[in-house]
Amino acid sequence: MSLLVVGSVGFDTVETPFGTAEEVLGGSATYFSTAASYFTEVRLIAVVGEDFPEDHVNLLSSRNIDIRGLARAKGKTFRWKGRYGYELNEAHTLETQLNVFESFDPIVPEDYRDSKIVFLANIDPELQIKVLRQMKNPELIACDTMNYWIEGKYDALKMVLKEVNILLINDGEARELAREPNLVKAAQKISSFGPKTLIIKRGEYGALMFNGNSMFLAPAYPLETVFDPTGAGDSFAGGFLGYLSNTNNFSESSMRQAIIFGSVMASYNVEDFSLNRIRGLEYREIEERFTEFKRLTFFEDL
Ligand code: AMP
Repeated sequence: MSLLVVGSVGFDTVETPFGTAEEVLGGSATYFSTAASYFTEVRLIAVVGEDFPEDHVNLLSSRNIDIRGLARAKGKTFRWKGRYGYELNEAHTLETQLNVFESFDPIVPEDYRDSKIVFLANIDPELQIKVLRQMKNPELIACDTMNYWIEGKYDALKMVLKEVNILLINDGEARELAREPNLVKAAQKISSFGPKTLIIKRGEYGALMFNGNSMFLAPAYPLETVFDPTGAGDSFAGGFLGYLSNTNNFSESSMRQAIIFGSVMASYNVEDFSLNRIRGLEYREIEERFTEFKRLTFFEDL
């Protein structure tokens, strides 16, 4: 099944207690498409500036990502700078430079328009809407966002949410979006905005899915080395939707498996800066960690 993503591609500068990475490849669509590419073909929509190196473009195409929708515009590429403290769960944004995204008018290539699954990765909700308007008849629309857009573009974001089936968001952002501190109540409120399925990412505490009347809780993989959490949410979404796109099955049990594949991709991603860990994984490693998740959560019935 075809999977399309619109989101950011750019440079990240990241400070963690264990080191710093300057102007490395990042962006929500970059992490998402790389993680999803282990499961399915991905079509990418984004824009980069004149300063974006060809090597980075080659990395994406070497992962079999369709980059015909990656525009190059006059000006500078998107840049994000963030810091993490020892708790590593929450990114503190130090600087966001939208640059070429400020005037980006996304054109969805004709043969991307019939994509069955659309992922609106973290980006300006007005761009998310522009992409949605060009799609023919997607079967599943999923979306991510962050405090930057909840605070800056609340109304546009609410418009996007009306059309979304699945929202993936972290716990702090869910509370902020719903203006409700209790997560269960926040989930109910967000569902009234549009998305009938809500996946709340809770960093090292795992992920929680509200799907109609059912709830599913998955742990995060307890790692010995967590190096840099940047991109964990996007690589989670990539594993999750990549798997759904591969199986073409959106049942509750398939979504539960997809959450574990999302957790697997996120767990590999945080082991190194940028895409260093997830760019060269072998599928066997993904399956092995999937099996470890099963062992980790198994218990006997009474
Ligand atoms: P996450 O998966 O939530 O850790 O997302 C990390 C990625 O989001 C980084 O690679 C950033 O480049 C990207 N990012 C940060 N802020 C924004 C923003 N306001 N719009 C789009 N992408 C962003």
